[in-house]
Amino acid sequence: MAKWNSQSVQILAKHILGQKVTKIKSLGIYNCRTVNRREASNLSQHAYGLAIDIAGFVLADGTHINLRENYDGTDKKRHFLKAIEKQACQYFSTNISPLDNERHNNHFHFDLKFKDNKQQYCNS
Ligand SMILES: [Zn+2]
Repeated sequence: MAKWNSQSVQILAKHILGQKVTKIKSLGIYNCRTVNRREASNLSQHAYGLAIDIAGFVLADGTHINLRENYDGTDKKRHFLKAIEKQACQYFSTNISPLDNERHNNHFHFDLKFKDNKQQYCNS
């Protein structure tokens, strides 16, 4: 998370938005449950504390950028979120975004699932 924040989030924020991110808004990390809460599914990476759900960011001037409101916009906030999404695969093995399904319409799910897992979304 520290590497992602310093090498991706802060650099993109300064380049695209002209200021630092002062807060990363998380919906949670540890949660002992199965994937998508389906009874027959494997344990989620959240059950191992290896996943985080990112709902948005707060900038130094107090501006909020939220996945729910800004992911489908047309301004710099959307550009920032798309850039975050694109670079996330360099830091996490799974990156699920609002584009992937309705369950993730308000957050990015990033996790450290092993590369050979069949539910991997990052191909690099
Ligand atoms: Zn998640």
